Amino acid sequence: MVWKDEKMKITMAHGSGGTASHQLMEEIFAPYFHNPILDLREDAAILSMEKGNYAMSTDTFVVTPLFYSGGDIGKLSVCGTVNDLCCMGARPQYMTCGFILEEGLSFEVLERVVKSMAGTAKGAGIRLVAGDTKVIDGQGGLYINTTGIGRIPEGRQVRGANLAPGDAVLVTGVLGEHHATILSHRMNIENQIQSDNAPLNGLVEALFDAKLHPKAMRDITRGGLGTVLHELAQSSKAGVLIEEEKLPVSPAVQGFAEILGLDPLYMGNEGKLVVVVPWEERERALSLIRSQELGREAALVGQVIQGEGVELKTRLGGTRRVPPLVGEGLPRIC
Ligand code: MG
Repeated sequence: MVWKDEKMKITMAHGSGGTASHQLMEEIFAPYFHNPILDLREDAAILSMEKGNYAMSTDTFVVTPLFYSGGDIGKLSVCGTVNDLCCMGARPQYMTCGFILEEGLSFEVLERVVKSMAGTAKGAGIRLVAGDTKVIDGQGGLYINTTGIGRIPEGRQVRGANLAPGDAVLVTGVLGEHHATILSHRMNIENQIQSDNAPLNGLVEALFDAKLHPKAMRDITRGGLGTVLHELAQSSKAGVLIEEEKLPVSPAVQGFAEILGLDPLYMGNEGKLVVVVPWEERERALSLIRSQELGREAALVGQVIQGEGVELKTRLGGTRRVPPLVGEGLPRIC
């Protein structure tokens, strides 16, 4: 839609529940989000669900800038929740979203975000069934909470505590892209790096379709691969040994990280997973992931070992501990 007045902005009235709120609903949210469940406009969504186990997850998105190379806060808010669900072996089905809008946000920006969310949700096969909007004073900012739910098909047992010595540790692609993108925008550095934000449920389903047995999966987000591996190692009371030489990092991100003194091991992604599989499935899993659009640069990066924590075999052949990340490397990347 082209707004008659490009300067149309969110005001406190849009959060009042009155005619301005109604206008927001009719002109921005309904055209993009409509589906038979939402269209009933009841106080709560009615869902019919099969018997079985479900995964449910919630996340709040406060990234700045709102738009960046390769994505935006809307796309991120759908991918983040979809990816958390599919890491448990679930098939994402339904989601809710809550918007917090700061006074002064332009309709044009909000519409771009909503359109992006709707397109991403459609692509990932998840339905938005309930939502809420609040307006607060501020400087035109926008924050989104999403909550999602999905059924875990019978027989899937993906848990952080499943790691056992000998298991293979794979990553589904190059590290640090999202982190480097957001930092580049913040620092006004021009480069070709793009965020990897993407929904990974298709890739996860392909693993199960191929009769592989992922034991644990995590999306590599804030804190990077180093942090995710620490979490898994701790849950399983095991250690993880990774090889520096095998870590997939693009030359652009490697160069960017070196200039800024960052370690790609701690840089966040928004479209990559760690996948732990039994050692005997490693080659089949790797080639299957690489056959997927979102997994072309997947790599086998290490193995679960006896012990605790994360160790890195360096390029020179030595071994060093990878400490857990202390503090936050970069706030508001997601
Ligand atoms: Mg996660």
